[in-house]
Amino acid sequence: MIELNFIKDNNDIKLKANICDNEILANYMNFEYFTKLCKEGCPNYNTNHTCPPNSHTFTEYTKDYKSSLVIAMYMNISKDKNMGETHQYLRGILSDLLIPLEKRVNGLLTDGGRCMYCKECTCLENLPCRFPEKLRFSMEAMGIDLSSLCENLLNHSMMWNKNGEDSYCTVIGSVNFNNMTEEDFKEIILDYL
Ligand code: SF4
Repeated sequence: MIELNFIKDNNDIKLKANICDNEILANYMNFEYFTKLCKEGCPNYNTNHTCPPNSHTFTEYTKDYKSSLVIAMYMNISKDKNMGETHQYLRGILSDLLIPLEKRVNGLLTDGGRCMYCKECTCLENLPCRFPEKLRFSMEAMGIDLSSLCENLLNHSMMWNKNGEDSYCTVIGSVNFNNMTEEDFKEIILDYL
């Protein structure tokens, strides 16, 4: 496992990353169940090409890649910020790593949430995506149980302290690849942090 600490904008950010075969990751997929949860509880359901029920399944999306490097970034939520603000900030930091990493390893990234490339997604007008080459899906939208995956693969609980309160924020993404080692990834990641 890769474990790193870095400072960005005076924030102390932690990173954990681990390699896993996509065949094993597919065991964490339950597309119907998580799509149902989104439908019942998420205001973004069916408002974006990358959100359920429009998202691919994890197995469809990753079919050309043998493995994934799953990355969690997390940081404490400061007193003047809430979970949503911290999540958005941290997602930006994760994207700044995933985008060049995807290129360097000739891979395919999974994002930390829905696509926010356009101000308003064309999904709302029932039109095709404006920039299909930019389309990337999150593992969550593709039916992966992120909470279990994070605990089992990265030995990290995604949120909540013992009182059920948010004390820190975690974002998860990944890069699909075919021929890389953990050492290769560690060197590349250090180039971008
Ligand atoms: S690129 Fe634009 S149209 Fe395509 S999924 Fe993202 S927000 Fe929607």
